[in-house]
Amino acid sequence: MTTEKGNISIHTENIFPIIKKFLYSDNEIFLRELVSNAVDAVQKIKRLAALGQYNGELGEPLVEVKLDEKAKTITISDNGLGMTAEEIKKYINQVAFSGASEFVEKFKDAKDANEIIGKFGLGFYSAFMVADLVEIQTLSYQEGATAAKWTCDGSTEFEIADGSRTSRGTDIILHINSESEEFLSEHKLQEILDKYAKFLPVPIKFGTKTTQEEDGQDEEGKTKYKSVEVDNIVNTTNPIWTKAPADLSDEDYLDFYKQLYPFSEEPLFWIHLNVDYPFNLTGVLYFPKVKDDFDMQRNKIKLFSRQVFITDEVKDIVPEFLMLLHGVIDSPDIPLNVSRSFLQADSNVKKINSYITKKVADKLAELFNKDRKAYEEKWSNIGLFVKYGMISEEKFYEKAKDFALLTNTQNENFTLEEYKEKIKAEQTDKNGSLVYLYTTDPDKQDGFIQAANKKGYDVLLMNSAIDGHFVSSLEQKLEKTLLKRVDASVTNQLIEKDELHESVLSEEQSAQVKSIFEKAIVKPGFSVEVVGLSPDDSPVTITMDEFMRRMKDMAKMGG
Ligand code: ADP
Ligand code: MG
Repeated sequence: MTTEKGNISIHTENIFPIIKKFLYSDNEIFLRELVSNAVDAVQKIKRLAALGQYNGELGEPLVEVKLDEKAKTITISDNGLGMTAEEIKKYINQVAFSGASEFVEKFKDAKDANEIIGKFGLGFYSAFMVADLVEIQTLSYQEGATAAKWTCDGSTEFEIADGSRTSRGTDIILHINSESEEFLSEHKLQEILDKYAKFLPVPIKFGTKTTQEEDGQDEEGKTKYKSVEVDNIVNTTNPIWTKAPADLSDEDYLDFYKQLYPFSEEPLFWIHLNVDYPFNLTGVLYFPKVKDDFDMQRNKIKLFSRQVFITDEVKDIVPEFLMLLHGVIDSPDIPLNVSRSFLQADSNVKKINSYITKKVADKLAELFNKDRKAYEEKWSNIGLFVKYGMISEEKFYEKAKDFALLTNTQNENFTLEEYKEKIKAEQTDKNGSLVYLYTTDPDKQDGFIQAANKKGYDVLLMNSAIDGHFVSSLEQKLEKTLLKRVDASVTNQLIEKDELHESVLSEEQSAQVKSIFEKAIVKPGFSVEVVGLSPDDSPVTITMDEFMRRMKDMAKMGG
């Protein structure tokens, strides 16, 4: 073949700056794209062999990343299907043309066609973000194919000539530009591979590493070891989310969690996601033990597309209230490299969002129904998610109202329905509304709690960070129900049982005491109640109007 020069046909001459600016904010992703392409190429040849369209030797599937600091090159090699010169022109030169989507189209009825990464176009050209010259050396699997070489300096001109590869597959050789020399570092490349390639489905080799191997025994019969150089394979090719839940043990899930978050405590439980219609999504989400510093625990979910790491910004895909969960989500149906606003409007993303919400609700319902005791033990950790979810997502509230728990000061747990039944006889006001009493600080409000308990009223614990909002939201959602803090001027509004009314003070004495106290503490919003049920009671409680107090608390928080 003679050398051929030509022009890449693209609609705008300025495609490279556009790629640089808009598609990839992070230039390290060139490696992700090129390694993904190499993985694709290997998957494709396996596919062709499985379909009987390739009968040659497959060999061990392998992608290799090589660094040559002296020559200032990074090479990504694969033993995939390779390309003919014609294919290079078609697939590489026609920027907007995605070979992968054509391939998927062609084999779409074949099982597993989905394994082919990379419907995301333009990937190859990300090479020019870090290279001022890109070379392709490739040999196609097709019978009689000859090796081809393609070079391009990032302009729209390219050159195709005979290549030097003697075995099937492709090398992409990047001549790193002067602004990108940071990538000419083994450490840096290892770091990027760890980030993006850790779970790719084909082994990725990056240099070698030294390990210890058994080497017979010494005179005392102890095992001897020797240092050996072995391939440094950066990835695990079949991470657990690609497997069937039935084939996995608790230990597998816990091990994987450790691998993702080496410094975290064991999670409480997990959910294996697996759906293929109307969108494709797999993954494992873990419920961590929630700590006080829960801002640190947010944003830990990793998003993959066919085992290629994409981002840990999953804000628009995972409902806000589940951002505290950990784990991985893998979906080829989430649009990549596009703007946030597009993502929010994407209908797949919306469906994924509600699917995850539903799965999480179903899992919680299952835990609740299967073993209530164990569920109650976990409640202090999961209560925060559940309450937050109930506040922020109507659909979640509808499911969670059956397994959300209210805890009282005696540490007993009730579902919303159970609680209503428990208190409806005692805690009704003159209008027939149920009155839930709660405490935000059981120590400080102890006197009030005791007084309420003496009257036969139950007091709920609402002392976590989310409870202020949870209380307001329950009040909105539950019919004819008021929530009043135990020190609010409300207990006297409740219809009391007659036998509890036996005050040691006469009515006249009560009125006197009341007026003395009122004069002493005249402040809007406060009220005085003379109880005096028995000689050992505190005879007077001074309470504050619930509305006034909430306003005050809000002012405090704001200031
Ligand atoms: P995509 O991967 O989304 O198709 P790319 O720009 O990353 O887009 O790659 C364009 C096309 O170039 C691929 O679809 C494939 O046909 C071809 N290609 C790229 N890298 C390789 C490779 N290592 N081996 C074989 N073909 C490749
Ligand atoms: Mg690609």
